[in-house]
Amino acid sequence: MNPSPATLTPILHDVFRQVVENLPDGIGTRLKPGRQVTRHGTRSTVLLSGIWDRHLPTCVVDPRYFKYEHVHDPEHFYSGGTDWYLQFYLNPNRIYQNPGELIGRLRPALEAVRIPGFEWHCAPNWIGVIHRFNLPFHPQRLTDYLVPRYTRLVRTIHPILIPILDAFQRDGSAAERAAVIAGRQPARVRNVMPGPRSAELSRSVSKRMRQQVLSAYAHRCARCRRTPEAAGSPLDLDHAKPVCRGGLTQVENLQPLCRDCHVWKGLRILRFAPQAP
Ligand SMILES: [Zn+2]
Repeated sequence: MNPSPATLTPILHDVFRQVVENLPDGIGTRLKPGRQVTRHGTRSTVLLSGIWDRHLPTCVVDPRYFKYEHVHDPEHFYSGGTDWYLQFYLNPNRIYQNPGELIGRLRPALEAVRIPGFEWHCAPNWIGVIHRFNLPFHPQRLTDYLVPRYTRLVRTIHPILIPILDAFQRDGSAAERAAVIAGRQPARVRNVMPGPRSAELSRSVSKRMRQQVLSAYAHRCARCRRTPEAAGSPLDLDHAKPVCRGGLTQVENLQPLCRDCHVWKGLRILRFAPQAP
């Protein structure tokens, strides 16, 4: 008999409880499971359950595409030939801020992971570490099978994720974050005061503004003061207060950073004042 969301949900909650018991506190307390097993939006026989990190910066990453996931896929749409799979996965297209930076740090770390039975998976919209398996459905057997493997997966992957996730900071309500992601001003703010102009809400910087910022900083990195030639990379214009945290595209909120300093700064709010070279 095939499982349904109703039969799988309590099993997965039980698995989650046991996995967390086996994890160090610093990892277990960060994790939260989905409330219930759900059907895939377009493939209704595919059943999904997920585990997330509470520190996942949802203004940066779409949480539906950055998680641990256990999947029942009886028609083998995604599994590559097995009825079940267990994975950590992310979709690089669903990272909304500095995806190059996040993927640049995560990808090589994930690719280097070695867990018996798991393999590295890499496609443009799906990278991760996956274990595929077949198992006739039986609640206790599924639990016994999943707990050690899920534990090993999280125990291995999470120490890689923690410093990266914590380099990002989240703030604002879900509605504010959604509005920022959509490039709009949050509705309740729009109603009470005249908001910033749309150019200020957009991430893109005009040529004129770019020149203005670069010359204020003498065409050097605002942090390390190197020229692009010395840094070996062009200067990026960084939002001192990131757009996803409500920062605006204004000269006062922009600063040139070399690639190294840009990666180092991440999504923190940090402003380096212009200075004579
Ligand atoms: Zn620099």
